[in-house]
Amino acid sequence: MNDKLIVNVDKVKQVNTAAVYGMIDQQGPISRVKIAEQSQLAPASVTKITRQLLATGLIKEVAQQASTGGRRAISLMAEQGSYYFISVRLGRGALDISLFDLSGVSHAHDKLSVNELEQDPLTQELLDKIADFIEQHVSEQKQLIAVAVTLSGLVNPGEGIVVYTPHYQLRDCPLGEMIESRFGLPAYIGNDTRAMALAEHYFGATKDCLDSILITVHSGTSAGIIVNGQVFMSQHRDVGEIGHIQVDPLGQKCQCGNVGCLETIVSNTAIVARLQALIEQGSPSILEAGFTIEDVCFAAKQGDMLCRQVLQRVATVLGSSIAIAINLFHPQKIVLAGEIMAAEDILLPTIKQCIQHQALSSFADALPVQAAHFQNNPTIGGLALVKRALLDGSLLIRLINQKPE
Ligand SMILES: [Zn+2]
Repeated sequence: MNDKLIVNVDKVKQVNTAAVYGMIDQQGPISRVKIAEQSQLAPASVTKITRQLLATGLIKEVAQQASTGGRRAISLMAEQGSYYFISVRLGRGALDISLFDLSGVSHAHDKLSVNELEQDPLTQELLDKIADFIEQHVSEQKQLIAVAVTLSGLVNPGEGIVVYTPHYQLRDCPLGEMIESRFGLPAYIGNDTRAMALAEHYFGATKDCLDSILITVHSGTSAGIIVNGQVFMSQHRDVGEIGHIQVDPLGQKCQCGNVGCLETIVSNTAIVARLQALIEQGSPSILEAGFTIEDVCFAAKQGDMLCRQVLQRVATVLGSSIAIAINLFHPQKIVLAGEIMAAEDILLPTIKQCIQHQALSSFADALPVQAAHFQNNPTIGGLALVKRALLDGSLLIRLINQKPE
Protein backbone atom coordinates (compact mmCIF):
# COMPACT_ATOMS: atom_id res chain seq x y z
CA MET A 1 0.00 0.00 0.00
CA ASN A 2 1.42 3.41 -0.79
CA ASP A 3 1.72 6.12 1.84
CA LYS A 4 -1.04 8.27 0.42
CA LEU A 5 -3.54 5.43 0.61
CA ILE A 6 -2.60 4.72 4.24
CA VAL A 7 -3.11 8.37 5.12
CA ASN A 8 -6.52 8.35 3.43
CA VAL A 9 -7.62 5.15 5.20
CA ASP A 10 -6.65 6.73 8.54
CA LYS A 11 -8.53 9.90 7.63
CA VAL A 12 -11.67 7.94 6.72
CA LYS A 13 -11.45 6.07 10.03
CA GLN A 14 -11.13 9.37 11.90
CA VAL A 15 -14.06 10.98 10.06
CA ASN A 16 -16.35 7.97 10.56
CA THR A 17 -15.41 7.59 14.23
CA ALA A 18 -16.02 11.31 14.76
CA ALA A 19 -19.42 11.09 13.05
CA VAL A 20 -20.53 8.20 15.26
CA TYR A 21 -19.18 9.77 18.47
CA GLY A 22 -20.75 13.14 17.60
CA MET A 23 -24.20 11.56 17.22
CA ILE A 24 -23.87 9.67 20.50
CA ASP A 25 -22.60 12.79 22.29
CA GLN A 26 -25.28 15.11 20.96
CA GLN A 27 -28.28 12.82 20.49
CA GLY A 28 -27.64 10.03 22.98
CA PRO A 29 -29.17 7.79 24.12
CA ILE A 30 -29.27 6.61 20.51
CA SER A 31 -29.43 3.10 19.05
CA ARG A 32 -26.88 1.59 16.68
CA VAL A 33 -29.63 1.20 14.07
CA LYS A 34 -30.41 4.90 14.20
CA ILE A 35 -26.71 5.80 14.01
CA ALA A 36 -26.36 3.63 10.90
CA GLU A 37 -29.42 5.25 9.31
CA GLN A 38 -28.30 8.80 10.01
CA SER A 39 -24.61 8.35 9.23
CA GLN A 40 -25.26 6.12 6.20
CA LEU A 41 -22.46 3.89 7.45
CA ALA A 42 -22.84 0.13 7.08
CA PRO A 43 -24.26 -1.45 10.28
CA ALA A 44 -21.10 -3.56 10.57
CA SER A 45 -18.96 -0.38 10.56
CA VAL A 46 -21.15 1.20 13.24
CA THR A 47 -20.83 -1.94 15.34
CA LYS A 48 -17.04 -1.92 14.97
CA ILE A 49 -16.67 1.78 15.79
CA THR A 50 -19.01 1.62 18.79
CA ARG A 51 -17.10 -1.44 20.07
CA GLN A 52 -13.87 0.56 19.91
CA LEU A 53 -15.48 3.55 21.61
CA LEU A 54 -16.95 1.33 24.34
CA ALA A 55 -13.45 -0.08 24.97
CA THR A 56 -12.13 3.44 25.58
CA GLY A 57 -14.90 4.19 28.08
CA LEU A 58 -15.96 7.29 26.13
CA ILE A 59 -19.45 5.87 25.58
CA LYS A 60 -21.64 3.46 27.50
CA GLU A 61 -24.61 1.22 26.83
CA VAL A 62 -27.96 2.00 28.43
CA ALA A 63 -31.18 0.02 28.29
CA GLN A 64 -34.16 1.97 27.01
CA GLN A 65 -37.79 0.96 26.94
CA ALA A 66 -38.89 0.90 23.28
CA SER A 67 -41.71 3.42 22.68
CA THR A 68 -43.91 0.66 21.25
CA GLY A 69 -43.45 -1.45 24.33
CA GLY A 70 -41.89 -4.88 23.94
CA ARG A 71 -38.32 -5.70 24.76
CA ARG A 72 -35.87 -3.12 26.00
CA ALA A 73 -33.51 -1.83 23.36
CA ILE A 74 -29.86 -1.06 24.02
CA SER A 75 -28.83 2.50 23.26
CA LEU A 76 -25.56 4.37 23.53
CA MET A 77 -24.66 7.58 25.27
CA ALA A 78 -21.48 9.52 25.99
CA GLU A 79 -19.62 8.82 29.23
CA GLN A 80 -18.15 12.13 30.36
CA GLY A 81 -16.64 11.23 33.72
CA SER A 82 -14.02 8.69 32.68
CA TYR A 83 -11.25 11.00 31.51
CA TYR A 84 -9.59 14.14 32.79
CA PHE A 85 -7.50 16.90 31.27
CA ILE A 86 -5.53 19.95 32.35
CA SER A 87 -6.61 23.39 31.17
CA VAL A 88 -4.30 26.39 31.56
CA ARG A 89 -5.04 30.00 30.80
CA LEU A 90 -1.86 32.04 30.66
CA GLY A 91 -2.69 35.64 31.53
CA ARG A 92 -0.53 38.67 32.30
CA GLY A 93 1.77 37.77 35.20
CA ALA A 94 -0.44 34.89 36.28
CA LEU A 95 -1.91 31.63 35.14
CA ASP A 96 -5.08 29.76 35.98
CA ILE A 97 -4.89 25.99 35.91
CA SER A 98 -7.78 23.53 36.28
CA LEU A 99 -8.37 19.81 36.28
CA PHE A 100 -11.57 19.07 34.36
CA ASP A 101 -13.46 15.96 33.41
CA LEU A 102 -15.05 15.84 29.97
CA SER A 103 -18.42 17.06 31.25
CA GLY A 104 -16.76 20.33 32.26
CA VAL A 105 -16.78 19.72 36.01
CA SER A 106 -13.68 21.25 37.58
CA HIS A 107 -12.03 18.94 40.14
CA ALA A 108 -9.19 21.29 41.13
CA HIS A 109 -8.15 24.85 40.37
CA ASP A 110 -5.15 27.04 41.16
CA LYS A 111 -4.20 30.60 40.32
CA LEU A 112 -0.43 31.02 40.28
CA SER A 113 1.87 33.93 39.60
CA VAL A 114 4.16 33.78 36.57
CA ASN A 115 7.59 35.28 37.11
CA GLU A 116 9.39 34.84 33.79
CA LEU A 117 8.90 36.87 30.60
CA GLU A 118 11.43 35.48 28.10
CA GLN A 119 10.63 32.43 25.98
CA ASP A 120 12.97 29.77 27.41
CA PRO A 121 12.59 30.47 31.14
CA LEU A 122 8.86 31.16 30.72
CA THR A 123 8.10 27.87 28.96
CA GLN A 124 10.22 26.06 31.58
CA GLU A 125 8.24 27.74 34.37
CA LEU A 126 4.95 26.88 32.67
CA LEU A 127 5.88 23.19 32.20
CA ASP A 128 7.11 22.93 35.80
CA LYS A 129 3.90 24.47 37.14
CA ILE A 130 1.78 22.05 35.11
CA ALA A 131 3.91 19.14 36.42
CA ASP A 132 3.50 20.32 40.04
CA PHE A 133 -0.25 20.69 39.59
CA ILE A 134 -0.53 17.17 38.14
CA GLU A 135 1.48 15.78 41.03
CA GLN A 136 -0.70 17.52 43.59
CA HIS A 137 -4.14 16.96 42.10
CA VAL A 138 -4.15 14.02 39.71
CA SER A 139 -4.25 10.63 41.41
CA GLU A 140 -3.39 7.46 39.49
CA GLN A 141 -7.07 6.59 39.13
CA LYS A 142 -7.72 9.74 37.16
CA GLN A 143 -6.62 9.14 33.59
CA LEU A 144 -5.30 12.30 31.94
CA ILE A 145 -5.84 12.58 28.20
CA ALA A 146 -4.74 16.08 27.23
CA VAL A 147 -3.35 19.45 28.20
CA ALA A 148 -4.97 22.59 26.80
CA VAL A 149 -3.43 26.07 26.99
CA THR A 150 -5.16 29.30 26.00
CA LEU A 151 -3.63 32.75 25.93
CA SER A 152 -4.18 36.09 24.25
CA GLY A 153 -2.37 36.81 21.02
CA LEU A 154 -1.95 34.89 17.81
CA VAL A 155 -1.78 31.12 17.77
CA ASN A 156 -1.44 28.45 15.11
CA PRO A 157 -3.72 25.87 16.74
CA GLY A 158 -3.08 23.20 14.09
CA GLU A 159 0.60 23.05 14.97
CA GLY A 160 0.38 24.19 18.59
CA ILE A 161 2.55 27.24 17.96
CA VAL A 162 2.26 30.54 19.82
CA VAL A 163 3.02 33.04 17.07
CA TYR A 164 2.79 36.12 19.29
CA THR A 165 1.41 37.02 22.69
CA PRO A 166 1.30 40.58 24.04
CA HIS A 167 2.29 39.83 27.64
CA TYR A 168 5.40 37.66 27.13
CA GLN A 169 8.36 37.35 24.79
CA LEU A 170 6.95 34.29 23.03
CA ARG A 171 7.56 34.32 19.26
CA ASP A 172 6.80 31.29 17.06
CA CYS A 173 7.07 29.14 20.16
CA PRO A 174 6.28 25.40 19.64
CA LEU A 175 4.50 25.16 22.99
CA GLY A 176 2.30 22.22 21.93
CA GLU A 177 5.34 20.12 21.02
CA MET A 178 7.06 21.01 24.31
CA ILE A 179 4.03 19.90 26.34
CA GLU A 180 3.64 16.69 24.32
CA SER A 181 7.26 15.69 24.83
CA ARG A 182 7.26 16.54 28.56
CA PHE A 183 3.99 14.85 29.49
CA GLY A 184 3.35 12.39 26.64
CA LEU A 185 -0.12 13.88 26.20
CA PRO A 186 -1.68 15.64 23.23
CA ALA A 187 -1.61 19.41 23.70
CA TYR A 188 -4.15 21.87 22.37
CA ILE A 189 -3.08 25.50 22.15
CA GLY A 190 -5.55 28.25 21.34
CA ASN A 191 -6.26 31.94 21.49
CA ASP A 192 -8.27 32.55 24.65
CA THR A 193 -11.14 34.53 23.11
CA ARG A 194 -11.56 32.12 20.18
CA ALA A 195 -11.58 29.18 22.65
CA MET A 196 -14.12 30.98 24.85
CA ALA A 197 -16.35 31.57 21.81
CA LEU A 198 -16.23 27.84 21.15
CA ALA A 199 -17.01 27.12 24.82
CA GLU A 200 -20.08 29.37 24.55
CA HIS A 201 -21.06 27.47 21.40
CA TYR A 202 -20.67 23.98 22.92
CA PHE A 203 -21.89 24.67 26.46
CA GLY A 204 -23.05 28.26 26.90
CA ALA A 205 -25.10 31.14 25.56
CA THR A 206 -24.69 30.35 21.84
CA LYS A 207 -25.47 26.63 22.06
CA ASP A 208 -28.68 27.25 20.15
CA CYS A 209 -27.09 28.75 17.03
CA LEU A 210 -24.38 27.95 14.49
CA ASP A 211 -23.19 31.52 13.83
CA SER A 212 -22.24 33.80 16.69
CA ILE A 213 -19.67 36.34 17.81
CA LEU A 214 -18.19 36.60 21.30
CA ILE A 215 -16.58 39.91 22.22
CA THR A 216 -14.29 39.93 25.24
CA VAL A 217 -13.12 43.05 27.03
CA HIS A 218 -10.24 42.64 29.49
CA SER A 219 -6.81 44.22 29.05
CA GLY A 220 -7.76 44.47 25.36
CA THR A 221 -10.77 43.78 23.17
CA SER A 222 -11.02 40.67 21.04
CA ALA A 223 -13.59 38.68 19.10
CA GLY A 224 -14.21 34.99 18.59
CA ILE A 225 -16.26 34.37 15.49
CA ILE A 226 -18.17 31.09 15.14
CA VAL A 227 -19.35 30.35 11.61
CA ASN A 228 -21.32 27.19 10.94
CA GLY A 229 -20.37 25.76 14.33
CA GLN A 230 -16.61 26.23 13.82
CA VAL A 231 -14.16 28.91 14.89
CA PHE A 232 -13.73 31.13 11.84
CA MET A 233 -10.06 31.05 10.86
CA SER A 234 -7.99 31.83 7.83
CA GLN A 235 -5.49 29.10 6.86
CA HIS A 236 -4.32 28.18 10.41
CA ARG A 237 -4.37 31.84 11.37
CA ASP A 238 -6.36 33.77 13.92
CA VAL A 239 -9.15 36.08 12.85
CA GLY A 240 -11.10 38.50 15.02
CA GLU A 241 -8.71 41.21 16.18
CA ILE A 242 -11.57 43.66 16.56
CA GLY A 243 -9.59 45.53 19.23
CA HIS A 244 -7.34 46.97 16.54
CA ILE A 245 -10.03 48.55 14.37
CA GLN A 246 -9.22 52.25 14.31
CA VAL A 247 -12.00 54.21 15.98
CA ASP A 248 -10.19 57.51 16.60
CA PRO A 249 -7.56 58.71 14.09
CA LEU A 250 -6.43 61.34 16.61
CA GLY A 251 -6.52 58.93 19.53
CA GLN A 252 -3.92 57.36 21.73
CA LYS A 253 -1.09 55.13 20.66
CA CYS A 254 -1.99 51.44 20.85
CA GLN A 255 0.33 48.65 22.00
CA CYS A 256 0.17 47.31 18.41
CA GLY A 257 1.95 50.44 17.18
CA ASN A 258 -1.04 52.09 15.47
CA VAL A 259 -3.12 54.96 16.78
CA GLY A 260 -6.68 55.14 18.11
CA CYS A 261 -7.50 51.41 18.09
CA LEU A 262 -10.76 50.29 19.71
CA GLU A 263 -8.90 48.89 22.72
CA THR A 264 -7.31 52.26 23.49
CA ILE A 265 -10.87 53.16 24.61
CA VAL A 266 -12.52 49.80 25.29
CA SER A 267 -10.33 47.93 27.77
CA ASN A 268 -10.25 47.77 31.55
CA THR A 269 -7.02 49.77 31.75
CA ALA A 270 -8.26 52.42 29.29
CA ILE A 271 -11.54 52.87 31.17
CA VAL A 272 -9.82 53.21 34.56
CA ALA A 273 -7.18 55.58 33.12
CA ARG A 274 -9.81 57.82 31.52
CA LEU A 275 -11.79 58.10 34.73
CA GLN A 276 -8.62 58.76 36.70
CA ALA A 277 -7.73 61.61 34.33
CA LEU A 278 -11.24 63.14 34.49
CA ILE A 279 -11.28 62.96 38.30
CA GLU A 280 -7.84 64.60 38.46
CA GLN A 281 -9.18 67.38 36.25
CA GLY A 282 -11.91 68.00 38.84
CA SER A 283 -14.92 66.03 37.56
CA PRO A 284 -17.05 64.94 40.51
CA SER A 285 -17.28 61.21 41.26
CA ILE A 286 -17.65 58.97 44.29
CA LEU A 287 -14.41 57.32 43.19
CA GLU A 288 -11.10 58.79 44.28
CA ALA A 289 -7.83 57.06 43.46
CA GLY A 290 -6.61 53.47 43.19
CA PHE A 291 -9.88 52.04 41.90
CA THR A 292 -10.47 49.02 39.68
CA ILE A 293 -12.83 48.28 36.80
CA GLU A 294 -15.11 46.48 39.28
CA ASP A 295 -15.29 49.70 41.34
CA VAL A 296 -16.18 51.68 38.19
CA CYS A 297 -19.05 49.31 37.35
CA PHE A 298 -20.27 49.36 40.96
CA ALA A 299 -20.16 53.18 41.12
CA ALA A 300 -22.00 53.46 37.77
CA LYS A 301 -24.74 51.16 39.06
CA GLN A 302 -24.96 53.30 42.22
CA GLY A 303 -25.72 56.27 39.95
CA ASP A 304 -22.29 57.92 39.70
CA MET A 305 -22.79 60.14 36.65
CA LEU A 306 -19.13 60.33 35.64
CA CYS A 307 -18.75 56.54 35.65
CA ARG A 308 -21.99 56.21 33.71
CA GLN A 309 -20.82 58.72 31.09
CA VAL A 310 -17.50 56.96 30.62
CA LEU A 311 -19.23 53.59 30.26
CA GLN A 312 -21.76 55.09 27.82
CA ARG A 313 -18.88 56.28 25.64
CA VAL A 314 -17.33 52.81 25.83
CA ALA A 315 -20.66 51.27 24.79
CA THR A 316 -21.02 53.69 21.86
CA VAL A 317 -17.56 52.97 20.48
CA LEU A 318 -17.87 49.24 21.11
CA GLY A 319 -21.37 49.16 19.57
CA SER A 320 -20.07 50.73 16.34
CA SER A 321 -17.34 48.13 16.03
CA ILE A 322 -19.80 45.31 16.74
CA ALA A 323 -22.08 46.73 14.02
CA ILE A 324 -19.20 46.39 11.54
CA ALA A 325 -18.69 42.78 12.61
CA ILE A 326 -22.42 42.11 12.17
CA ASN A 327 -22.35 43.51 8.65
CA LEU A 328 -19.38 41.30 7.82
CA PHE A 329 -20.54 38.02 9.42
CA HIS A 330 -24.35 38.16 9.89
CA PRO A 331 -24.30 36.24 13.20
CA GLN A 332 -27.38 34.83 14.93
CA LYS A 333 -26.27 36.10 18.33
CA ILE A 334 -23.74 38.46 19.93
CA VAL A 335 -22.39 37.68 23.38
CA LEU A 336 -20.09 39.80 25.53
CA ALA A 337 -17.71 38.80 28.31
CA GLY A 338 -15.49 40.72 30.68
CA GLU A 339 -15.53 42.55 33.98
CA ILE A 340 -17.46 45.46 32.41
CA MET A 341 -20.47 43.17 32.01
CA ALA A 342 -21.14 43.81 35.71
CA ALA A 343 -22.62 47.04 34.29
CA GLU A 344 -24.52 45.29 31.47
CA ASP A 345 -27.71 47.24 32.30
CA ILE A 346 -25.87 50.43 31.38
CA LEU A 347 -23.87 49.07 28.43
CA LEU A 348 -26.27 46.82 26.54
CA PRO A 349 -29.04 49.36 25.70
CA THR A 350 -26.47 51.71 24.12
CA ILE A 351 -24.68 48.88 22.28
CA LYS A 352 -28.03 47.66 20.91
CA GLN A 353 -28.96 51.16 19.79
CA CYS A 354 -25.66 51.52 17.89
CA ILE A 355 -26.24 48.16 16.22
CA GLN A 356 -29.78 49.18 15.21
CA HIS A 357 -28.50 52.37 13.58
CA GLN A 358 -25.26 51.11 12.07
CA ALA A 359 -25.76 47.48 10.97
CA LEU A 360 -27.97 46.38 8.08
CA SER A 361 -31.49 46.27 9.45
CA SER A 362 -32.15 42.79 8.11
CA PHE A 363 -29.04 41.59 9.99
CA ALA A 364 -29.67 43.60 13.16
CA ASP A 365 -33.42 43.22 13.67
CA ALA A 366 -34.21 40.80 16.48
CA LEU A 367 -30.51 39.98 16.87
CA PRO A 368 -29.94 38.92 20.50
CA VAL A 369 -27.10 40.81 22.21
CA GLN A 370 -26.41 39.52 25.71
CA ALA A 371 -23.85 38.67 28.37
CA ALA A 372 -21.87 35.50 27.78
CA HIS A 373 -22.69 32.49 29.94
CA PHE A 374 -19.08 32.06 31.11
CA GLN A 375 -17.76 35.07 33.03
CA ASN A 376 -14.72 34.81 35.32
CA ASN A 377 -14.12 31.26 34.16
CA PRO A 378 -10.73 31.61 32.48
CA THR A 379 -9.91 27.92 31.92
CA ILE A 380 -13.23 26.97 30.30
CA GLY A 381 -11.73 27.74 26.85
CA GLY A 382 -9.47 24.70 27.21
CA LEU A 383 -12.54 22.50 27.68
CA ALA A 384 -13.76 23.64 24.26
CA LEU A 385 -10.40 22.82 22.62
CA VAL A 386 -10.47 19.27 24.05
CA LYS A 387 -14.13 18.85 23.09
CA ARG A 388 -13.30 19.95 19.54
CA ALA A 389 -10.49 17.36 19.36
CA LEU A 390 -13.02 14.68 20.37
CA LEU A 391 -15.65 15.85 17.90
CA ASP A 392 -13.19 16.08 14.97
CA GLY A 393 -12.01 12.54 15.79
CA SER A 394 -8.30 13.29 16.30
CA LEU A 395 -8.33 12.68 20.06
CA LEU A 396 -10.76 9.74 19.69
CA ILE A 397 -8.36 7.90 17.38
CA ARG A 398 -5.51 8.48 19.81
CA LEU A 399 -7.52 7.04 22.68
CA ILE A 400 -8.74 4.09 20.59
CA ASN A 401 -5.19 3.28 19.51
CA GLN A 402 -4.09 3.19 23.15
CA LYS A 403 -6.65 0.52 24.02
CA PRO A 404 -6.72 -3.08 22.83
CA GLU A 405 -10.00 -3.87 21.07
ZN1 LIG B 1 -3.97 48.43 18.10
